[in-house]
Amino acid sequence: MQITELHWQPIAELLSQKLGQVAFDSWIKPLKVANDQEAGSLNLEAPTKFMKDWVVRNYSQEILNSVTEVIGQSLTLNISVNAEAAAPITPSSVSNPAKPATPKKEAAPKAVEEKKKQVSAPTTVSKPEKKQVFTTRNGMVLEPKFTFDNFVTGKSNNFAYSAAKAIAESEELIYNPFVLYGGVGLGKTHLMHAIAQHIAETHPDRKVVYMSSEKFMHKFVSSLQNKSTMSFKEEFRSVDLLMIDDVQFIAGKGATQEEFFHTFNALVDMRKQIILTADRSPHEMDNLEDRLRSRLGSGLTCEIHMPDLETRLAILDTKAKSLDIDLGKDVAMFLADKIASNVRELEGALNRLIAHSKLTQREITLESAQDLLKDLFRVYNQTITIDEIQRKVAEYFKIKVADMHSARRSRDIARPRQIAMWFSKQLTSKSFPDIGKSFGGKDHTTVMHAVKSIDKLVDADPSVKEDIGILKGLLTR
Ligand code: ADP
Ligand code: MG
Repeated sequence: MQITELHWQPIAELLSQKLGQVAFDSWIKPLKVANDQEAGSLNLEAPTKFMKDWVVRNYSQEILNSVTEVIGQSLTLNISVNAEAAAPITPSSVSNPAKPATPKKEAAPKAVEEKKKQVSAPTTVSKPEKKQVFTTRNGMVLEPKFTFDNFVTGKSNNFAYSAAKAIAESEELIYNPFVLYGGVGLGKTHLMHAIAQHIAETHPDRKVVYMSSEKFMHKFVSSLQNKSTMSFKEEFRSVDLLMIDDVQFIAGKGATQEEFFHTFNALVDMRKQIILTADRSPHEMDNLEDRLRSRLGSGLTCEIHMPDLETRLAILDTKAKSLDIDLGKDVAMFLADKIASNVRELEGALNRLIAHSKLTQREITLESAQDLLKDLFRVYNQTITIDEIQRKVAEYFKIKVADMHSARRSRDIARPRQIAMWFSKQLTSKSFPDIGKSFGGKDHTTVMHAVKSIDKLVDADPSVKEDIGILKGLLTR
């Protein structure tokens, strides 16, 4: 397959979601799809050598992953320098030796402008309104999307969210340290950035330092090598708010842990705020010195759980709305049901569907979603049981599983039961009598009748059709 500008747009869009607007605008947006493409490769052009090298070093893997996600095939990536190629926009921080001081937009020849418009009209990379971008004192660019406003709350994360918000808004030290822990992709980094962003906005004078624990370790080790541990200590001990992300990596790293402990104590003694995240509670961290463990637990430790189904649906809804995408109820339900343990994966799956739909200019349907995301669900690929059908159908209609076995005949019970029987016939290899047995010992004629009725209703009643559609997404893999 030969890549064209039209293919590049959804790939670029996916990249903008993965990398964040800042990195995207700086490095990916200026890239152009080269005119000459060979099969099996993607040839891009960067306006400067500096830019090319940077992209190759830092983003080639991400670009290749996105290519595979969008077009479902892996390509090799070639980036060449073409200063003449009027790259649409060059970030102001990167000099373009070809045209040093010319304001690009006005200077671009009309024909080029026209052509550009034509090419990118159908699928322009959507760009939400410009948000202010904050950088911490140690030069960390905060992700503009990671705000409190963009964080969807539910039972699973309400406590973490409220605590984070209280800390961000409080003039006083309320919880110190604040430790946020939980599995990957559940919003820990998001909340941390949200706190940092809020403080940067309301207290620009406060010195906020944010880094990963790997970075902390790296800085510490190089300060040892450069014999500059004094300045290392100074640097950290002069901050107002220290945020260290994924602190579990410090556990087991003797000297770094020791230094971290001292920094930590010094800051706490000076009544400076410390915020940490980890993938598990300090109690569960092996190789953590007891004294550090107990100090970590001396403030507020808060677990962030996987959002429940409703919250997952709300996250999808928020995200789809923000991208101006109409996501069918059946597709949303399918995603939220299948991807239950990681919000990042949930977003990734949604991005993949959106990118594909932009590329093919087709709507996202349950079928296309199931097909596109097959690989994500391969692990679940077992055949479904009648038990499971009964459980899911009961859950969907908010009735008791026991009612699947009962003889109650009221419509709001009998109809779901019939639907469950219908699915049992469709999705398992059980016979009518076997299915009857699994539904509280009913006669095979009852099952046959149920199957016939639902067959008819699917055609006649749009709401039954919708229910069946959604349930099908939940039940089929
Ligand atoms: P962690 O640091 O816990 O591994 P992140 O904070 O990086 O996870 O979150 C992963 C992705 O999921 C991010 O894009 C984040 O915005 C999103 N996310 C997680 N939780 C929520 C939520 N409750 N509402 C909206 N987005 C969320
Ligand atoms: Mg994180």
